[in-house]
Amino acid sequence: MAENLEKLRNIGIMAHIDAGKTTVTERVLFYSGRTYKIGETHEGTAVMDWMEEEQERGITITSAATRCEWAGHAINLIDTPGHVDFTAEVERSLRVLDGAVAVFDASEGVQAQSETVWRQGQKYELPCLCFINKMDKLGADFEMAVQSIRDKLLANPVPMQLPIGAENDFVGFVDLMDMKVYKFYQEKKGAEFKVEDIPEDMKDAAEHARHDLLEAAAEFDESIMEDYVHENPISTDRIIAAIREGTLQNKLNPVFVGSALKNIGTRRLLDGVTRFLPSPYDRPKFYGHKPDDEEEAIEIDCDSNKPLVALAFKITSDKHGDLNFLRIYQGSIKKGTRVLNANKNKKENITRIFQMHAASRESRDVAKAGDIVAVIGLKDTWTGDTLSDPKHPVVLESISFPETVISMS
Ligand code: GDP
Repeated sequence: MAENLEKLRNIGIMAHIDAGKTTVTERVLFYSGRTYKIGETHEGTAVMDWMEEEQERGITITSAATRCEWAGHAINLIDTPGHVDFTAEVERSLRVLDGAVAVFDASEGVQAQSETVWRQGQKYELPCLCFINKMDKLGADFEMAVQSIRDKLLANPVPMQLPIGAENDFVGFVDLMDMKVYKFYQEKKGAEFKVEDIPEDMKDAAEHARHDLLEAAAEFDESIMEDYVHENPISTDRIIAAIREGTLQNKLNPVFVGSALKNIGTRRLLDGVTRFLPSPYDRPKFYGHKPDDEEEAIEIDCDSNKPLVALAFKITSDKHGDLNFLRIYQGSIKKGTRVLNANKNKKENITRIFQMHAASRESRDVAKAGDIVAVIGLKDTWTGDTLSDPKHPVVLESISFPETVISMS
């Protein structure tokens, strides 16, 4: 289990209704949630079996935040509510993310509601990966979808993959992360892939796409520009690191492609999440203020040794009582201690701390800066409240949202 918070990703999946958010989420949980044992079921199929069961019962598959793992990284998958609501709740859930995957329908490109959510994300400078889903669907058009991200979202999409075929003939992609071809074939239990060298007839297209990537990177990074104009070699890893934690963070939007339905591309998308999206340490600083002085900004540091600052962003109830989901921005919380609700000036008890997994919860004694956990014991805390160290009261910047929404399309 990754306790190293540099290997933590707090992400959300956002999409226009029907673009495939649920299907992508299911695939992600299938691959990354499988290490958690559920009853006596065989490990490899457990999460899927559980999900099928949940679906039959019509229950949502994720909790407000679900912890899973991929490639040595821990991923907190935060449920971004509603496809359409433009509410403080959506804002709050976007605020606790360090990155997002935006899912698009390859035959539709950017649709109206994706614009709204994208804009909300931009308010928090949220780094975003794009997943062009449904490449197998009639009318799927990768170029069109990428162009619509450029035109309608005014973003800088950079394909990290090029699809091979489309519609019924969609069989995989050229991957620019390792300059290999991923070809998929249908297995009984889903799609498996072979990794191959790029064939001669696709080499030009792959080189062209890599060239576009370097050019886009050079535009925002002087040292890359320097190497680019002098034709010095620029490694893909350098660009990936700059997007994840450097000059290109939130400047370029890596584009991945696949079909969640056919199970093509979702594992590589998870590789993209761990490689391109930032850890809590790699995000710009947040600010708060003293409860009685809104003028002076207090810098919040992702450091677990400093006084606690955490945001309550969601409350759910189950048979054990109210679960309050917290994002810890600074400091740490310990089971059995008292914290201050700085908005209400009330002390609160943290009776228990849980890490929520796909189908189980794990009791924790401590949770540290950067992490997202659920706690029990809070009596007067509502979503949007800041919890802090009683000796150092801090209120996070208030979440404002416009009263009217103007759609651009
Ligand atoms: P959501 O509303 O964004 O959560 O979308 P869903 O995941 O529920 O998907 C909406 C519909 O699109 C469902 O009928 C899915 O089976 C279908 N779908 C999802 N992913 C794909 C895909 O990759 N290809 C095709 N052809 N259909 C898909």
